[in-house]
Amino acid sequence: MRKGVLVDLTRCVGCGSCAVACKLYNGLKWESGASPIGDKAQLGSENWTVVRKHVAEGKDGAVWRFVKTQCFHCLDPACASACFVKAIQKTPEGPVVYNERLCVGCRYCMLACPFQVPKYEWDKAFPAVRKCRFCYDRLQEGMQPACTSACPTGANKFGTRKELLDEAHKRIADNPDKYVNQVFGEKEYGGTSVLYLSDVPFDQLGFRTDVSQESIPSYTWKVLKWTPYVAVGWTAVLTALYLYTKRRADVEEGH
Ligand code: SF4
Ligand code: SF4
Repeated sequence: MRKGVLVDLTRCVGCGSCAVACKLYNGLKWESGASPIGDKAQLGSENWTVVRKHVAEGKDGAVWRFVKTQCFHCLDPACASACFVKAIQKTPEGPVVYNERLCVGCRYCMLACPFQVPKYEWDKAFPAVRKCRFCYDRLQEGMQPACTSACPTGANKFGTRKELLDEAHKRIADNPDKYVNQVFGEKEYGGTSVLYLSDVPFDQLGFRTDVSQESIPSYTWKVLKWTPYVAVGWTAVLTALYLYTKRRADVEEGH
């Protein structure tokens, strides 16, 4: 069953426990001037999830809202489609994972991601792209992600994507005056594994709402199939880079 996370922004109190749990579980550094919590919080190679504070226009005036952000783990991810060495892959359980050993540092995944999630280790001698892995190792052991297990309010809930979607629509139907009538991630860019509910319009919270409901790979290939010369040239470049990476991996393994 494909897994997912439902983030109900009406229940998030901005405590940051999810961001702390992610750092602790994944051994991510605390960097000065790059807090994962607050109005300047930004995703980074050491910040795989952040809780950003927004001031929004509520029904009775200005309100604070806290938005937990991480990789959306798209159903048909543009990053995986752009990665010619298959360092990034979509798993059947839902997580979009990557293998640092295969990464050649081309950063096409960063260009492809519509949510600007993958980040590069600019300060390392042998940098790689890094992002939330949906705690794939924990899922394989029957556990939930570190961030959802740490949430004290249930704002950040783990389950199957179908169960979470059903629950999200039920919450909206039961409280039509409270929630915006949209589950962000149900259809955006072909659907994502991380879903959001909100009581203020999503565009006030840093979400882009004018986006395609088709996945990026699906319309990219619709265009590419009409451009055979571009495709042939592109394939040659990708093949050369793939052979280079494979050779590098073989050398590292002593073959
Ligand atoms: S799923 Fe795991 S890696 Fe991703 S944000 Fe949560 S704790 Fe971090
Ligand atoms: S742990 Fe839960 S309540 Fe706290 S910031 Fe994260 S999502 Fe919000």
